[in-house]
Amino acid sequence: MTNFPPQQPENRTTSPPQGPQHSSDSSSLRLAVIAGIPIRIHFTFLLLLVFVAATGLGGNQGHTWISVIYVILLFACVLLHELGHALTAMRYGIRTYDIVLYPIGGVARLQNLPDVKSELWIALAGPAVNVVIAVLLGIAIAAARVPFDPAQVSAPIPRLVVDLFWSNIALFAFNMLPAFPMDGGRVLRSFLAQRMDVLAATRIAASIGQGLALLLGLWSIFTLNLLLLIIAVFVFVAAGQEANAYQTHVLATGHTVREAMLRDFHTLSVGDTLRTAAEKLLSGSQHDFPVVFGEEVQGVLTRADLLRGLAQEGPDAYVAGVMQRDFTYVYPDTDLEQVLQAFTPNHPILVMEPPQNPTNSPKLIGMLNQENVLEFLIISRFNSRPHRSN
Ligand SMILES: [Zn+2]
Repeated sequence: MTNFPPQQPENRTTSPPQGPQHSSDSSSLRLAVIAGIPIRIHFTFLLLLVFVAATGLGGNQGHTWISVIYVILLFACVLLHELGHALTAMRYGIRTYDIVLYPIGGVARLQNLPDVKSELWIALAGPAVNVVIAVLLGIAIAAARVPFDPAQVSAPIPRLVVDLFWSNIALFAFNMLPAFPMDGGRVLRSFLAQRMDVLAATRIAASIGQGLALLLGLWSIFTLNLLLLIIAVFVFVAAGQEANAYQTHVLATGHTVREAMLRDFHTLSVGDTLRTAAEKLLSGSQHDFPVVFGEEVQGVLTRADLLRGLAQEGPDAYVAGVMQRDFTYVYPDTDLEQVLQAFTPNHPILVMEPPQNPTNSPKLIGMLNQENVLEFLIISRFNSRPHRSN
């Protein structure tokens, strides 16, 4: 499985204008770094290991340690699958933030949106890894004259190999389901997008995925299969989210911050009182204000900061004491698509012109918030200007 865009972009920092940075999820721990890609393991996966060790699931009755080894090897296969995506993406010049292993599989989080053709190969590379593993295990099983039916294999090690063989076939089949965020969903979109607009292709692929998830959910209810039901719900929700995120990113691709930014906005001075700030808030539609000292930006005062400050310190307090000193800014020629990932709700991103000489500080020229970027994307969609879809 690959995932784009990363789901938890969160950074409040005064610098890197090259593009947003991503803090890592604290619910996962870093296992290794392969080809420059951090491999993380979600804590729920460790719970799964404990569960397997405690119940001895995995087919090898009476061999708890074999069950634990099976789960670890299975996840090594999932990891290789994700590395298949990540290394193929690297060939197309797309970096991978990290690979996270969850109990139901892995996710490689790609930094950029691949174009339709490279997406096809990036998506196929993961399941292809499982096919290769299955073929190698199949050759080993045939060579050792072990039956392929797990029920007929009683020795623990051969049974482990046969289980892994079938697991890789299952991984291949599951990931090739034509539903987002499965690889099959991306393959489907890529095929559709060669015949139609990529957004239409995304919508159709998402609908097919959700329809499939509904069927899977019904099936799981009839068969009382809880795991299948969880997967169905996951696929249904993820398919919708994926389609929305993808639409936004396709629309933003090829546009810069400069095109979308608000140029007409008010600033506050560090010496202003909250009363002045409240008057500015009430007099217009602007919710968040850059706070300046002379030409230099010192912080940001959001509506929430202002209301909190008024409640705690009263209207005569200074803006400087209430504002956020950490804020995010970008240069105007940054890709809009990159900036989308840095948004957190109700926090503006400032747009600053790089200084002509290094001793000067950057100059504030615009602001971005989620609302105005969304408006920009909707309006630019209806403009005659064709969006890039490669
Ligand atoms: Zn995959």
